[in-house]
Amino acid sequence: MKYGLLGHPLGHSMSPFIHRELTKLKGAVCEYSLYDFTIDDLATKSVMLLSLDGFNVTIPYKKEIIGHIDRLDETAARYNSVNVVKTGRENVGYNTDVTGFVKSVENAGMSLGGKTLLLGCGGAASMMAVETALAGGSVTMAVRDVNSPKAAEIVAAVKKLCPDAFIETVPIDMVQGGFDIMLNATPVGMYPNVGVSPVAESVAAACGGVFDAIYNPRETLLARYAKKHGVPCVTGMEMLVRQAAEAQTIWHGLTFDEDEIKTVIDMANSEMEKR
Ligand code: NAP
Repeated sequence: MKYGLLGHPLGHSMSPFIHRELTKLKGAVCEYSLYDFTIDDLATKSVMLLSLDGFNVTIPYKKEIIGHIDRLDETAARYNSVNVVKTGRENVGYNTDVTGFVKSVENAGMSLGGKTLLLGCGGAASMMAVETALAGGSVTMAVRDVNSPKAAEIVAAVKKLCPDAFIETVPIDMVQGGFDIMLNATPVGMYPNVGVSPVAESVAAACGGVFDAIYNPRETLLARYAKKHGVPCVTGMEMLVRQAAEAQTIWHGLTFDEDEIKTVIDMANSEMEKR
């Protein structure tokens, strides 16, 4: 089985490690390579990519790849963004970032259907805002610049899919606690700048649960704040592993129980700390 990750630049991606460990659990051997192509390479290399058994797609090609495949599944179409391609008679694009995120939250016993504080207004935040609104939750989007066009686009995307949804934009430095769940979709606290949190400790303490999309370090300062106050917290490695597991299901019908997912999350966290 031959897979790979298309992106640029790829650096020290965790994807080869995660996919190899997932397939090893099922007694399979997975050859997973990194395809760090520039945009000029993409046109000539797409035939080679489509001859693989399947491949992942990351920044900056999640939209660009759409022109090279036949169709999108419902989730990829919702965001016009593809992170998994299943090759074959028809080459189909999927978005397992979405399922990885939703499953990580649900598996922790948290719900997107309540009062949600969303930090950031980038790519991940856009997906989280829409998924929250689809789940019936209200979205308070905390951003650096309340007049940001990106924040306005997210509000418009939510309103288009869920006209009755509540969504507001507030300055991130003015946020006060009292939310069912907080979703961090900013890189604040990510390696190497690990000693900072996007919000004050009191905000984390007053939330019912925290989801932090950052996976390096294993535990951000925000996650430590949550832990200190007994607030359940899910970290980004869980989303990363669950989106990869979902890709394996799409490619080969491989399914993983919770013990297997947890094993790979622990292994991936340990591997990342060695790097
Ligand atoms: P992005 O598109 O670059 O968006 C980042 C957002 O964070 C922007 O809204 C940016 O604000 C905001 N931000 C940056 N620095 C900030 C600061 N100091 N204070 C407040 N806000 C700040 O990035 P993304 O792709 O959405 O990714 C966001 C995070 O999620 C990253 O840490 C990424 O690693 C993580 N992620 C994890 C997974 C996973 O599988 N675990 C998947 C996707 C993303 P401005 O708009 O003002 O610039």
